[in-house]
Amino acid sequence: MFNFPRPESSQSRQPFSSRSAADSAEFVELQAEVERLYFITEALWRILKEKHGLDDNELVKQITLIDIEDGKLDGRKPKAPPQPCPKCNRTVGRQRMKCLFCGEPIAQNPFDR
Ligand SMILES: [Zn+2]
Repeated sequence: MFNFPRPESSQSRQPFSSRSAADSAEFVELQAEVERLYFITEALWRILKEKHGLDDNELVKQITLIDIEDGKLDGRKPKAPPQPCPKCNRTVGRQRMKCLFCGEPIAQNPFDR
């Protein structure tokens, strides 16, 4: 099995008993979402292995390359900083589909956070 560094969540530093009921419900919901994403990721990886002959070493290599893009092998991918608009060069927030100032469509990277 793989042994990647796992980011420490802020929730794990706080005692469970001090969280509100709403936070606990949200935490449980997030756990279920993460579990669902694990299933999807594993299913996609199995398809790639079976249909395209990739191996686990390639997956580990790519995960490591993504992790170290920010210079730190820490199990985290930093959020992308705001980018300049390709038309007017003003700074545009990451989540914007269009420039707030000139309306230029902004290309989205589906893996940006
Ligand atoms: Zn613009």
